[in-house]
Order: sequence, then structure tokens, then C-alpha cells
Amino acid sequence: MELTELYRDVILDHNRLPRNFGPLEPADASADGVNPLCGDRLTVRLNLDADKIGEIRFEGQGCAISTASASLMTEAVKGKTRSEALELFERVHRLLTDDEGSAEDLGKLAALSGVREYPARVKCASLCWHTLAAALKAADAHGTPAVSTE
Ligand code: ZN
Repeated sequence: MELTELYRDVILDHNRLPRNFGPLEPADASADGVNPLCGDRLTVRLNLDADKIGEIRFEGQGCAISTASASLMTEAVKGKTRSEALELFERVHRLLTDDEGSAEDLGKLAALSGVREYPARVKCASLCWHTLAAALKAADAHGTPAVSTE
């Protein structure tokens, strides 16, 4: 399958039927993210099972890319340790911004490399990851920080 086709299919699918979408009560940690360039807003909530992300859900409103990216992210990080999740963030960020970024072993997240064709949308795709990182930090501080991609 062509990457552009994969990109379109995965983004459309996850935007139409976002996985892990909705509230999570009670949550161990949460964070709010805003991408003012596009108007995307989302909240990520998670529960930790020792050092692993046991449950993760998101809510919010945004463009197709921000919603699909958040949906893909929740699927990808569930069951991972905090450091594994942050490593994945690094890899996805490289995939979004660097032509040398490798999609190998990224599964469906590989579809996000299609965003490289649209530099203005990189922040739409990375918003959920920045918000996840903030939520993981909040898990230590027991707060709800607000992040902005600006
Ligand atoms: Zn957007």
C-alpha cells in the first residue's frame, strides 16, 4: 500500500472512530493541550499501574489529524512504561519532522509520516504527545498542567 493511501485511510478511520475517546474517572493524572495555530484542544487522562500506563483516554475537539493522532497514540502507549512512552514520543517526533525518521516497527503510527507533507499540521499531530508527556509529569506532581504547542 502506498504511504499516502495508508496515511489517508488510517487518519480517516481514527478520526471517524477515535479509540479510547471519552472521560476517565478517576484518573491518576491528566493534562490539557492546545494548539492555537489550528484550534485543536484535547485532554489526556491516564491511570498508572505501577510504572505502566494502565488506562488512557482522551477528549477534546480538533481537526482530523489531531484526533486521529491522539487515537493512535492511546493505542500505542497503553501498557507501556513511562519511559517507553516518552521514547515513542521522541521517535514519532522525528517521524513527523525529519526525513531520516524511521517508521520501522511503529505499526499504525507509521501513517503519521504522511504529515511531513504538510508542515503546518505537524503541531496537530504532536499535540497529543506533548499533552501525554505533561500528564506523565503531572502523575508525579498530582496537578493538571496546561500545555501549548506555541
Ligand atoms: Zn489541527
